[in-house]
Amino acid sequence: METTVLKKIWLSPPHMGGNEEAYVKEAFDSNWIAPLGPNVQGFEKSIEDFVGNKTYAACLSSGTGAIHLGLELLGVGQGDEVICQSFTFAASANPITYLGASPVFVDSEEETWNISPVLLGEAIKDRLAKGKKPKAIVAVHLYGMPYKVDEVHAIAKNYDIPVIEDSAEALGSSYRGFNCGSFGDIGILSFNGNKIITTSGGGALLCKDQNIKEKAVFLATQARDNAPHYQHSEIGYNYRMSNVLAGIGRGQMEVLRDRVESRRRNFQYYKDHLSNLSDITFVNEPKGSYSNRWLTCVLTPSFEVREKIRTALDNENIESRPLWKPMHTQPVFKNSVSYVNGVSEGLFERGLCLPSGSSLEVDDLERICKIIKNELK
Ligand SMILES: *Cc1c(COP(=O)(O)O)cnc(C)c1O
Repeated sequence: METTVLKKIWLSPPHMGGNEEAYVKEAFDSNWIAPLGPNVQGFEKSIEDFVGNKTYAACLSSGTGAIHLGLELLGVGQGDEVICQSFTFAASANPITYLGASPVFVDSEEETWNISPVLLGEAIKDRLAKGKKPKAIVAVHLYGMPYKVDEVHAIAKNYDIPVIEDSAEALGSSYRGFNCGSFGDIGILSFNGNKIITTSGGGALLCKDQNIKEKAVFLATQARDNAPHYQHSEIGYNYRMSNVLAGIGRGQMEVLRDRVESRRRNFQYYKDHLSNLSDITFVNEPKGSYSNRWLTCVLTPSFEVREKIRTALDNENIESRPLWKPMHTQPVFKNSVSYVNGVSEGLFERGLCLPSGSSLEVDDLERICKIIKNELK
């Protein structure tokens, strides 16, 4: 008996460019296996050149670690409150709690699905009235779509609250001609396995000041004082990126532009082939925004339709996933303060991420669209 195994299609698998192995081999050949080394410096340089806008990059072991260090550099500590976009992955919020601070969640607007400037303003006013000035704001370019940068940063500036710009999903996206990652007091990137480029695991902290970069590297390498022996005046972390993994990153940076083009091509294919179905809608780029379209997301009319599509794809060995479950609805954050308007809960109920890897072939896209069309007939 022969059984046909349908080719698995993943949501967002890694996609190597070709030169990664050569950089990793360099690390082996020169015995730069330890953290620090030419690949780390080279990777940082290529990120700085790409992001531009006078940005410095410190490569770390994860995006989560970058948010943790970023919050610490902004002075967040025990008992503080930090405003965080509710519609995001848990890693945007978790590091707030590592420092003994509390997240205050703010819901999204419908145009970009990111933090609502209106609700952000209301939340800050209400926290101030309660005698608690938020220590920082974590804003996220979710799925690669830039948040309303001008509005959010104007509010932050008005109240003198620093912004951590979570660009984990938005490397290659831009807003009014400037690259995502370059807007926040601190920006962060992720090179986790499912992101637009990957080092298998890794991240970066972005900032505008070389001294802050040096402070980040100092904290990320166990906060060693300048002495021949091991002396410490501050608590440090082991958060630096390894020189081996940075080699993968250097190879990936060479193909980043191609990866963005491929992801955007996926989005366009889905839109061309599915938007005539009344049960499927897409979110467009507002004027001035350019999304890397890390994941193509669609909205359906209901939870039932979303699940119908998801299970039909699953039955054909195709991975799709509901949109992020908002943080204010997560069991672990059930006691957190939140300012909500129903937008992110609606998106979570009705939205689905379709396979979006940069290595998808037209045949794969055709197969996926055919299944969806068949379900919605
Ligand atoms: C992936 C991701 C992170 C965390 O990055 P890691 O490198 O996986 O630690 C943070 N925020 C968002 C929005 C992410 O998608």
